Amino acid sequence: MRPEDILMPSPSGVCCKLGGFHIDPTRPVERAVITHAHSDHARAGHRAVLATQETLDLMRLRCGENFAGTTQAMAYGESVNLDGAKITLHPAGHVLGSAQVAVEANGLRVVASGDYKNVADPTCAPFELVRCDLFITEATFALPVFRHGDPDAEIAKLLHSLTLFPERAHLVGAYSLGKAQRVIALLRKAGYRAPIYLHGAMQNITNYYIGRGIALGELRPARGASKSNLAGTIMLCPPAALNDLWTRWFPDPLAAFASGWMRVRARARQQGVALPLVISDHADWNGLIATIAATGASEIWVTHGQEDALVHWCASRGLKARPLDIVGYGEEEDVADTAAGDGGNDDAAAPPLSDGNRDDDERP
Ligand SMILES: [Zn+2]
Ligand SMILES: [Zn+2]
Repeated sequence: MRPEDILMPSPSGVCCKLGGFHIDPTRPVERAVITHAHSDHARAGHRAVLATQETLDLMRLRCGENFAGTTQAMAYGESVNLDGAKITLHPAGHVLGSAQVAVEANGLRVVASGDYKNVADPTCAPFELVRCDLFITEATFALPVFRHGDPDAEIAKLLHSLTLFPERAHLVGAYSLGKAQRVIALLRKAGYRAPIYLHGAMQNITNYYIGRGIALGELRPARGASKSNLAGTIMLCPPAALNDLWTRWFPDPLAAFASGWMRVRARARQQGVALPLVISDHADWNGLIATIAATGASEIWVTHGQEDALVHWCASRGLKARPLDIVGYGEEEDVADTAAGDGGNDDAAAPPLSDGNRDDDERP
């Protein structure tokens, strides 16, 4: 038996014939194992879904009650057997509930990482290294130019800007699931105690994080806050909302954006971001190659982003490597949770917290 007899690429995602399931399928299937709740990985419409409890709950929040026929929750480290294939979920360190999927059969182990980062994050369990024969890695930031650096130093830049411009509202663009909560937790860790304001599109997901025991301090909805109250505050919103009309409502707004893409200065400029914050929930180049080496895998499949450079690096190290051309990953749209938003009116009485903003900025 070879690793590719356990998992094989298919047009709808990686498939385990033996166990009769797909991992993060991009089309509806009978049985899906889902790594995490970002919309490019977690789609509605599968007959049966196996994932962590957090991923199932977040899918329910984002896609509605009937997002799957049946669901089965698995804790990290727990295993199930599906027709001779043993599945175990391990923390991926990407967002709350994110998991790597280990599949074992006939003494071979294959690990599909989903999205991952090997950097501490106060809002989710740390990445766990799993030794394996075949490792399927993401490649969102798989170019040597991507070095994410220290997230605490980026948060310090934001706090410094607040002291320089104490009258300006600091609008921080951040993905609704994972990044927003991480930025808040990092601000608290840095000692920032003031209330933080939230765009309506991120309220439900953030409340879910709080319900799972993640301390985020005092949060307030931006809706209903008076303009004078917002001077000198931090306000989080989906990145696409940074350029919306509603930002005009804020006192002298200063746009920040927390993303690994902010390493590319031209991109920050092009998006009108005055304060780029390089904070990513994906491994950077060094994180990717260190992880690949540490898994001990002799074969690497690369998906989801800048495959070529990573495939080349693997080959130069004597590893068997190939890109997986699965269409549909890396388009992490920042879908608002179902109860948010008021349709985007632009009256002066309250900021219009439109939830219709597609956030497709996870693309290169
Ligand atoms: Zn993701
Ligand atoms: Zn992704």
